[in-house]
Amino acid sequence: MNYREEMKQLRDTLNAHGYRYYVLDAPTIPDFEYDRMLRRLEDLEKEHPEEITPDSPTQRVGGRILAAFESVEHEVPLESLQDVFSPEEVNEFGTRMAESLHQVAYSVEPKVDGLSVALEYRDGIFVRGATRGDGRIGEDVTENLRTIKSIPMTLPEKLPHLIVRGEVYMSHRVFDELNAMREINGEPLFANPRNAAAGSLRQLDSKIAAQRRLDIQIFNLQLCQGRTFETHEQTLDYLRTQNFKVIAHRVVNSIAECNEEIVALNESREKFPFDMDGAVVKVNSLTDRKLLGSTAKSPRWAIAYKYPPEQKPSKVVNIVVQVGRTGVLTPKAIVEPVHLAGTTVTNATLHNQDYIAEKDIRVGDTVLVQKAGEIIPEIVSVDLSKRPFGTTPYVLPERCPVCGAPVSRDLDGAAVRCTGAECPAQLLRNLVHFVSRDAMDIEGVGPAVLQQMIETEMVRSPADLYYLREEDVANLERMGKKSARNAIEAIEKSKENDLSRLLYALGIRQVGAKAGHVLAAHFKSFEALSASGLDELTEIPDIGPITAQFILDWLGSAQSQHLIGRLKAAGVNMEYLEKQVNSNFEGMTFVLTGTLQKFTRQEAGKLVEERGGKAVSSVSKKTTYVVAGENAGAKLTKAQELGIPVLTENEFLEML
Ligand code: AMP
Repeated sequence: MNYREEMKQLRDTLNAHGYRYYVLDAPTIPDFEYDRMLRRLEDLEKEHPEEITPDSPTQRVGGRILAAFESVEHEVPLESLQDVFSPEEVNEFGTRMAESLHQVAYSVEPKVDGLSVALEYRDGIFVRGATRGDGRIGEDVTENLRTIKSIPMTLPEKLPHLIVRGEVYMSHRVFDELNAMREINGEPLFANPRNAAAGSLRQLDSKIAAQRRLDIQIFNLQLCQGRTFETHEQTLDYLRTQNFKVIAHRVVNSIAECNEEIVALNESREKFPFDMDGAVVKVNSLTDRKLLGSTAKSPRWAIAYKYPPEQKPSKVVNIVVQVGRTGVLTPKAIVEPVHLAGTTVTNATLHNQDYIAEKDIRVGDTVLVQKAGEIIPEIVSVDLSKRPFGTTPYVLPERCPVCGAPVSRDLDGAAVRCTGAECPAQLLRNLVHFVSRDAMDIEGVGPAVLQQMIETEMVRSPADLYYLREEDVANLERMGKKSARNAIEAIEKSKENDLSRLLYALGIRQVGAKAGHVLAAHFKSFEALSASGLDELTEIPDIGPITAQFILDWLGSAQSQHLIGRLKAAGVNMEYLEKQVNSNFEGMTFVLTGTLQKFTRQEAGKLVEERGGKAVSSVSKKTTYVVAGENAGAKLTKAQELGIPVLTENEFLEML
């Protein structure tokens, strides 16, 4: 699998799980698994920023309710354009046109960086609007389009059928205001006007879309019954008479003039209220367009000239550090405001310590800032000739700027994380992990409930869960008395959990469910674990020196001790409860495949391990049994080939 495919697969899987987590409130995989995939995707995106798509979960602003918009089949396809990047390529386009046409006039227009939509009118009334989608089938976003004030709902001339195409965008001003408000409210910022417009147009709640004050530029007449036109310009002029907001355009008679106009448009970029990512050159005559037709992807009669990303100098006034939900410290540069690609840029991403060190970016430096497409502004280079005296290289803080706990660097990358057991920046995530099925297994307290508990300050640490009062919980949204009682009961019940669950729930780095179990079985009590040292820890099979150090660091921190103290005081069990199971699977290796009815494969694997057996994922000669559920595939075939005994789910149950 190449990286593009892997990134796509990760995005798809993460999006599916993100949807279950954020929208359905019913995650089906443990957090660490999600995080592992997310980190992998983040790493790939760092390596290939050009592959970052707007649908990547790393770009997600969260909370957006996604559900079905109806599909719309476009009567006239919404084609895309062939990109060119140099005046020479524009000339080549001109040569191609001259070969098939007599005299060519071109329309040159700004290329609006927004979202393409088709607006349909019947008898002069706006009846439907749809996104471009794949060009053939889009989504019905009529309700949201209605909130765009520059879209006429009725037209002066009542032609039987009319379809126009335009680009929906968010103006720079609205974008700056929206992000400023979001910053004040502590909400994630939109990376650029395009993402903001896309997010707004795909709101299921059109009230929100309305607040976003989107706008539109109309640039094509797709279909028109009742009138005929000879040129593109005539159609645009007509559409203007029909109260549409029509794209600025200049008609010229030579390709040389096209190139001049392309340069002129780029220079006047700031004049336009929208992001412009290029200029479009189109043959003006509609008869000629028909003659030329289209390739599979785009019309032969037009090209899009893409401008290189705009860069401007600015000065780094400060470097600040934000702590994300996963505890990662992300530095960003606060720069003197510069107007770039239409928006006011006041900060630039610095990614991580390695990035800063590599470019040696310091407070006080004059830097070149660039804004390219989907990416947040970044610093291209430092102008060393302008570096003031007395600056020092920047180093990330050694303590979390939010909670003061020490930070530690990821084993496999440049990321630096806060280790605070009660860090407010990571609270939601820590809580979700704490209550999850493999951890304290507290049912009825999902992410949405936890989020509310944090907002109402009922909970500031996982320990607070054990001090909740039923009546307070009942007051939360969508909570009623009965579910509050159930939640409190589930919390109470979790006090009796085995130590292994607690150890996993604490979120100590590198301590997963398995390590939690190994540690609990070895030490038998939290107290004994606390009293251990590096030597004893590293002697335990499965615990390496790095994990051991993470455990010791965690145990040694003031926040952790505070957390443990309060959990203990609340009556949470701190002992290993030896399981009364026969260890009759000692030395056996199981492979579970297909869908089991009674439990998930993960649960079944656990049962095997509790009995001293091993559950692995691939069949080999060493496999003792293969347990085959419904729709078992390749693994079953392999087992049969190798002559490994295959158990049905019932036979497996009997063995248990
Ligand atoms: P691309 O998506 O890169 O193939 O570029 C083509 C897109 O540019 C079209 O789908 C339109 O959404 C958009 N566009 C923006 N402004 C214009 C314009 N003036 N004429 C044609 N297309 C435009």
